[in-house]
Amino acid sequence: MLNIAEICTGTRALGPGLRAVAWTQGCPFRCRRCVAPDWIEDRPARVMSPAELAAALLTDPDVTGLTFSGGEPMEQAAGLAETARLARRHRDLTLICFTGYRLGDLRGRPGPEVLLDEVDVLIDGRYVDVLDDDRGMRGSTNQRVHRLTDRLDGADFQTGPRRTEIRVSAERALLVGVPSGAARTAWQQVVARP
Ligand code: SF4
Repeated sequence: MLNIAEICTGTRALGPGLRAVAWTQGCPFRCRRCVAPDWIEDRPARVMSPAELAAALLTDPDVTGLTFSGGEPMEQAAGLAETARLARRHRDLTLICFTGYRLGDLRGRPGPEVLLDEVDVLIDGRYVDVLDDDRGMRGSTNQRVHRLTDRLDGADFQTGPRRTEIRVSAERALLVGVPSGAARTAWQQVVARP
């Protein structure tokens, strides 16, 4: 079973085209100024099977890609790999995955390897706030973009402007994207509201 912090479908803030995003609950890292501190703790959130997650990610018929972020996706790599495989039975989807690990540290580990087999673009490395240059889809310049296939070769992950969405409902507010400094400030104002 997977432990999922949040799901968002139909976003343009985390990769090319229209995407569905799953954020995993639980991360072994403690990056300073992590954008998702509520998702670091390893506690039960939305516990669901890969089939249930795949179905949730496919609810928007116009979605052309998936993005896995966290939390730390590689802690739940086998279940996410199964999710991607199941979703791709229904639709041709690209897959972007964020991880705090380095790609070299993941190679040879059974769980991560099966997820890496599904990933088109991996953005690796921990977030370092003093190296955040407000550019691209990596949060800081130490993070690397690995193109594991050529399926997203036309996309600029390194230098393009950041896109962020703030989704507000009666139950919650959700920040989608890698935020610029201005977007972080706007987000903090949203969550500070009574
Ligand atoms: S790896 Fe990501 S989720 Fe984990 S603490 Fe760092 S920024 Fe937060």
